[in-house]
Amino acid sequence: MNGLIFNLQRFSTKDGPGIRSTAFLKGCNLNCLWCHNPESINGHKELKYIESACVHCGACASACPQNCLVVDETSWHWEEHSCIFCGDCVQACPHDALGLWGEDYTPRQLTDELLKDREYYGDSGGGVTFSGGEALLQNEFLFECLSLLKDAGIHTAVDTALSVEWPLIEKVLPVTDLFLIDVKGMDTEAHLKNIGVEPQLIRENIGRMKTLAESPEVHVRIPLVKGLNDDPALIPEMIKLLRGWKALKRVELLSYHSLGVDKSAQLVAGGEQELLEAPDREIMDEFFLKLTAAELPVAKH
Ligand code: SF4
Ligand code: SF4
Repeated sequence: MNGLIFNLQRFSTKDGPGIRSTAFLKGCNLNCLWCHNPESINGHKELKYIESACVHCGACASACPQNCLVVDETSWHWEEHSCIFCGDCVQACPHDALGLWGEDYTPRQLTDELLKDREYYGDSGGGVTFSGGEALLQNEFLFECLSLLKDAGIHTAVDTALSVEWPLIEKVLPVTDLFLIDVKGMDTEAHLKNIGVEPQLIRENIGRMKTLAESPEVHVRIPLVKGLNDDPALIPEMIKLLRGWKALKRVELLSYHSLGVDKSAQLVAGGEQELLEAPDREIMDEFFLKLTAAELPVAKH
């Protein structure tokens, strides 16, 4: 069984407690307007092309065994349907203008790679986090990796939006120490527009997680984007959703940043992301104060 990984980030301090390694799994069933990892959405390998670095030398086209690159003095064209993602063009490019997003791993291969940093995890109270994309979609692969890591005594975390059928969540519960859950909006219509799906399934899954007799610890992360999901009138709904959740130990408010915009421009097949805005400071403060007043464990932003 293979999983498709598009990034392995070592020494991460933002994806759970301590020093962690984060494996980013490719493939997502959402389409957030502010996605930080637009290269994660497609569940297949993809070619990355940095137009500003390309000098149109044609070395990539000469190296391609499938003849799927056509380069002249002013244009660079890729025939996606005949590409076998061998990476020969990436190796041939003298200007680092090309890259591949997506690498196959077996659970054992990925786990062995992640265990190379185990001494850092132990010393810092860290571990391994699986993110995406939507990590739960590669469910069997994820379960195998989590199981191998648990057997090795490593703290495990899964970063998810919970917009999947319950059995995919249930399967990994026994081998996950921490769920990092992204709550991306409360208004149903805006959720559909901003995220690409209605929030019903996510709400149902949160409801089920709240009733678990034995639950992994939960941290909720709330990304806020000006004009899209930062209306303070939605705070009471948010409180209603999160209140009374015994496993919830931390709530983080995350202000928009534009990381995904540059990356989306490098995807050869795919649309460019629009630049959005971070919420005003007063709005962030209002969310913080009202969620804190509701006795939710909000981290200082
Ligand atoms: S990855 Fe391989 S097949 Fe695809 S364009 Fe590059 S050289 Fe050609
Ligand atoms: S080898 Fe690199 S620099 Fe040359 S044409 Fe291809 S992408 Fe551009």
